[in-house]
Amino acid sequence: MDKYDILKKYFGYPDFREGQELLIDSILNGRDVLGIMPTGAGKSICYQVPALLLSGITLVISPLISLMKDQVQALNQAGVHAAYINSSLSESQISKALRLAAAGQYKIIYVAPERLETYEFLQFAQQAEISMLTVDEAHCISQWGQDFRPSYLKIVQFIRRLEKRPILSAFTATATEKVKEDIACVLGLMEPQALVTGFDRKNLYFAVETPRKKDSYLMQYVKEHKGESGIIYCATRKNVDLVCDRLRAEGIAATKYHAGLGAEERRQNQEDFIYDRCPVMAATNAFGMGIDKSNVRYVIHYNMPQSMENYYQEAGRAGRDGERAECILLYSAQDVAVNRYLIENKEQNAENTWEEMEQIRERDEERLRAMTYYCMTPDCLREYILRYFGEMRSGRCENCLNCAREYEEADVTQAAEKIIACILECRQRYGINVIAGILAGESRAKLREYGVFNYDSYGSLKELRETEIKMIIHQMLIDGLLVMSNDKYAILKLSPDADAVRKGQRRVIWKKVKINAKKADTANVSAARMRKSDILNSKGLELFERLRALRTEIAREESLPPYIIFSDKTLVDMCVKAPMEKQEMMQVTGVGENKYERYGEQFLAAIADYSKGSREKYYFGDVQEAVAQTAQRSGSTKGKKADFYLTKEQAESFPYAEKYLAAELAEKLNGLRDSETVKKMSGAEIFRTMQAKEYAGETVQNGIRKKYVSKQGQTAGLFIGMRKSKSGTEYEDIYYNEDAQRMIVAMVIEK
Ligand code: ADP
Repeated sequence: MDKYDILKKYFGYPDFREGQELLIDSILNGRDVLGIMPTGAGKSICYQVPALLLSGITLVISPLISLMKDQVQALNQAGVHAAYINSSLSESQISKALRLAAAGQYKIIYVAPERLETYEFLQFAQQAEISMLTVDEAHCISQWGQDFRPSYLKIVQFIRRLEKRPILSAFTATATEKVKEDIACVLGLMEPQALVTGFDRKNLYFAVETPRKKDSYLMQYVKEHKGESGIIYCATRKNVDLVCDRLRAEGIAATKYHAGLGAEERRQNQEDFIYDRCPVMAATNAFGMGIDKSNVRYVIHYNMPQSMENYYQEAGRAGRDGERAECILLYSAQDVAVNRYLIENKEQNAENTWEEMEQIRERDEERLRAMTYYCMTPDCLREYILRYFGEMRSGRCENCLNCAREYEEADVTQAAEKIIACILECRQRYGINVIAGILAGESRAKLREYGVFNYDSYGSLKELRETEIKMIIHQMLIDGLLVMSNDKYAILKLSPDADAVRKGQRRVIWKKVKINAKKADTANVSAARMRKSDILNSKGLELFERLRALRTEIAREESLPPYIIFSDKTLVDMCVKAPMEKQEMMQVTGVGENKYERYGEQFLAAIADYSKGSREKYYFGDVQEAVAQTAQRSGSTKGKKADFYLTKEQAESFPYAEKYLAAELAEKLNGLRDSETVKKMSGAEIFRTMQAKEYAGETVQNGIRKKYVSKQGQTAGLFIGMRKSKSGTEYEDIYYNEDAQRMIVAMVIEK
């Protein structure tokens, strides 16, 4: 058997995803690997497939007990002999598992790092043939990361005690350059094959909403998505309780999770959620570490989280199966105040010096600000997220609310001048609430206390609503005309750029959601939101529901989470292919031999019962199209289309110019290609090629990624230039001069 046979037989997939093969091949060649891939990218396959091809055992170190159980269940379902050893087992269970392991029962064993130094485990490991040691959540080894676990350092001592050094493979979803170095260095990876794939999760739809009543918005949303699984994150335990009660009162099977509940209740509730007995979970951020539920269709943030790091991690729990899922943040200005309070009152390590504490607080404030800007930006939300994590990209994603919305630009230079005047009149001492209050001419007690009623600025923008003034102030912050102080007071000050506005040399443009575009808005949004209904027609959706019910029934009988039996994606593909016999069923993505043995016939029977033997179509368009669509969704590397190339003739009409960004270059190339047979080129791919040639690369400083051009790269015609985001902030990016353009065109000409 080769890697493809393993992939199909055990996991039921026809192709590898981007990057998986590279890592698998390296492991099989005996080389260490380091995989940095976002959640849901498919890291597990990267070590599970080679584990089944290597002669001995693979040990997987994982910090999360719940995740181990899930992974082992899924592997056993797929017909792979796997086990886990951690503190959730009794001593006698552990001894038994080790006995079986020593007898060669398991190919893959998950262990908690603490276990590595116990006598019993070490004795087993020293006698067994350990082919590979995989470190999952490898960032836990770095003291720079947020999740440092001292027990991870034990891995190194453990390896030293083994007779033969196994192949090492390490995986994580979050790593700055520093953490990456740490992983390689502390673990002692030997010339590892590293792979960093992008952070983009294409199947996730992003939106920020500012509903007047969050509660009503939420209830309506959950009702509209009845039967689907979702998580609702709230900032406080109190909110979790309230939201959960409201949902239950509306007849929705909801449960909850926060640190105020007893351990048993938390365990029970988590299980109810995972097994889809209660598909909706209201929770604080205490919930989620190690939750591997793949069919979460939406993550709603009832409150804004404290940082983009938290947000992306929590929102990222949606759509791990690669199917479309939605991440919606319900923003209100009050969220900022609550978070600021939480930051101020955060417990800090008592051993930190005062300066260190200050530094941490400042960093937290900085992160909160970036989070707040996310809620304010009129630009593409995905672009904002990816840029925050250091991935440069340009252009709209067409799969977020902001890309679906229509905006109108309003010249608010005059209002901006008044805002600046007010800040100066207040001698740069107040935050946004006071400034907006003064300008709107409010008569709040606090304003009276500050004695601002006789200021020239008082009421000078009273034709606007206070919220509108705040929005303009936010626009000015985004444009870099104003800055906010880094402390809890968040005082507004002028940046040097504000001078240009005062002197009448710069205009201020406010991008405002078009009110009368609301209808178009909804239509666009639902187009962007299409999921299985994208592919399946109404009869297909009905079949899907039947198959889902069958899955739930089996799950109950076998006490397994439904998604471990088949993912939603597999069910959709079943409806598209409507298989009538084994051969056809085996073509469905996610159906491997073992799964077929267990469940194949039941599902075939359900489909036959529904179709009554007719070859009716349960999807839109023709088969090829729908299948290609599903294949594309699964991120498969072997679509029907060939990789990008141009014929010689096509290449001759390339519109060379003085300089292009990678994305522009890709666009020009795509303009020439034959879209029927050839995949699209992307800016990211051009950059990756340049990286591979060592013409360019990326560094990370303070969490911000920066691109650079090497000496060879410069010779080839790459150079760094400034560019401006839509919101006006400047940043560096790589440009390609005509020589470089010719080089890239030559590279893609058909051989
Ligand atoms: P990660 O650990 O990176 O968060 P997982 O390993 O849990 O991601 O994989 C996410 C999902 O993608 C799983 O449902 C997995 O079965 C699926 N998957 C992984 N590799 C492939 C592939 N080559 N083809 C189709 N689906 C895949």
